[in-house]
Amino acid sequence: MAKYFTVDLVMVASSYFKKQKKNYHPVKDQQLTIAAKANIFICLIFCLFWTIYFAFAQMWLIVYMDVFFTLVSLFSLFLIYKRRISAGILLSQFVLLVFPVIFCLFLDVATIDRPRVAHLFLPAGAILGYLNYRRDPSFLQVVLILLSIACFIFFSGSSFTIDSAIPLSENIRDHGGWIATCVATLMICISIYTMQLEIQIENSMVQDLRLALSKKQFELFFQPQINSSETLIGAEALLRWHHPDLGYIPTKDFIPAAETFGLMPEIGEWVLVQACKVLQDWNKQEETKDLTLSINISADHFMQPNFEQTVIDLLQRYDINPSRLILEITETIALINCVSMIEKMNFLSKHGVQLSLDDFGTGYSSLSYLQKMPISQIKIDRSFVQAALDDKRSNKLVTGIIKIGLDLNLRVLVEGIETPEQFNAFKNNGCTEFQGYLWGCPMPLIDFIKQLPHFNKKV
Ligand code: C2E
Ligand code: MG
Ligand code: MG
Repeated sequence: MAKYFTVDLVMVASSYFKKQKKNYHPVKDQQLTIAAKANIFICLIFCLFWTIYFAFAQMWLIVYMDVFFTLVSLFSLFLIYKRRISAGILLSQFVLLVFPVIFCLFLDVATIDRPRVAHLFLPAGAILGYLNYRRDPSFLQVVLILLSIACFIFFSGSSFTIDSAIPLSENIRDHGGWIATCVATLMICISIYTMQLEIQIENSMVQDLRLALSKKQFELFFQPQINSSETLIGAEALLRWHHPDLGYIPTKDFIPAAETFGLMPEIGEWVLVQACKVLQDWNKQEETKDLTLSINISADHFMQPNFEQTVIDLLQRYDINPSRLILEITETIALINCVSMIEKMNFLSKHGVQLSLDDFGTGYSSLSYLQKMPISQIKIDRSFVQAALDDKRSNKLVTGIIKIGLDLNLRVLVEGIETPEQFNAFKNNGCTEFQGYLWGCPMPLIDFIKQLPHFNKKV
């Protein structure tokens, strides 16, 4: 265990000092797990020390309690090593709450000479919980944080103990008090340092994303979309960030962060302009002039004042047939469900722009969206693809979704098709449009254009 801990500390130090080693989201997890492991490790050493001490003093009740909390801490460490990070942290937080409270109530009784110290462990648990909450919010997490803070305030402000308390001797509290205070302070320092590292990573990521825009590090990749006779009908443009040091950063590592930091409207604007330029070029070539181009629009970009007018202005400026542009929105936008959002959609739709509901079936899919919104396409999420082949219930669900879509005169596209079996299954279920690795991964525009003769041969 000590070996892993040392390795972790070396990793923190190196990621801190060698700035070029950053890799965004995973680092955030890494900082948190290291802080959690470090705190639990310190707790374990502390418990072990007192277990041996109280065993020599033959104070068996405290020894049993120490052993119990040591075992729980070991289990939480095991959970973190198994990547069950939230569960591990919640459990260690539980130890950091219950252990000090029991000590404050029964053993660590304040006297005139010696104040109580066990409650000093409570803030360490609360900060750790807060770090975990930022990563994985949960109700239980909030409850544990609030309880830790409330207990800290209570035990700091009062010398309350229960009548059946068995106060530790002054002798033990004399030395133990100093040790406990040092250990608790160290744990608080580790948690605060971790928080500061996280903020630093976030700040550097915001800067890097801004730089990416100005230094033209973003690219659009294009993934083919085909119909049931495998004719190319269009493409989805997918954003890629080509970082000069780290290469291509996975979308899951930077798009959610860009959304959190409010950068998506700016990035989305760039995507929109690029898409219009591509459509303008496609319009000039015989083999591409009928293709549609889908782009993903994030919720805060869509909700920008004048978003809809900007789209129409761009289409006019680049002289593009509006029906060639498909705006993919997710149910997050649909959930906003306010009048202005429906007005924006109606405005775009009246001007001929197509709207598509992306990742259909994954969120709070409500059929009322389809009734209220001028959607022309639904995209069935790829999580359904293999499930529909393996499991009868998923198959029935997908068949139902496809039927409803078709009955409402919507185009139904399924994404994430990787095998001919999946293609045939969805084609037989009535799906009309398809996208997936079977016909090509997202690729640079130049490669997409090179692939066109291959698709034309199939017609
Ligand atoms: P999405 O719009 O649902 O895009 C489909 C994702 O599935 C893409 O991941 C694509 O590479 C992947 N994919 C396509 N076919 C297959 C397949 O056969 N098998 C598997 N396993 N995966 C397949 P990507 O490019 O990483 O994008 C992920 C998400 O990031 C997108 O999901 C979209 O929500 C978001 N995104 C991408 N580009 C943009 C953008 O320009 N703006 C906004 N707001 N979001 C974007
Ligand atoms: Mg999409
Ligand atoms: Mg999708």
